[in-house]
Amino acid sequence: MMNSTQIRFEPRLGIFWLVNNKLLIDSVELSQSEQYYDYRNYPHSHIDIWEQWQRIGKAPPESPYEEYPRGRVTYDTKTKIFMLFADKCLLKRRDLIAKIKEELHLPNKITLESDSHYRCFDCLHNDEE
Ligand SMILES: [Zn+2]
Repeated sequence: MMNSTQIRFEPRLGIFWLVNNKLLIDSVELSQSEQYYDYRNYPHSHIDIWEQWQRIGKAPPESPYEEYPRGRVTYDTKTKIFMLFADKCLLKRRDLIAKIKEELHLPNKITLESDSHYRCFDCLHNDEE
């Protein structure tokens, strides 16, 4: 019997949101990503993908892309480490981080970073108080 854990998938880079507790991810294989100095990046912006998803009904049509918690995974070609940048409220969710790592076939050791650009409406509101 074939054991699926023995199949090696290529790691992927991508962007993601958490919408109503559902993880929405768009990704490309590492080899299809864009080289930018010492980094490899997912090649599309949050706003472009969100607008595409709104047209096909995958994202809420009335919500701007900044409303929900979001982030991205990028790769440092110098250190050979995957870095996950995300809203603070996502970084606290170990279950979600594990799911993102699983879906993108990332190695166990990755770097987690917050990013001041990635703040959902709830976090923006809380930071202002
Ligand atoms: Zn947030």
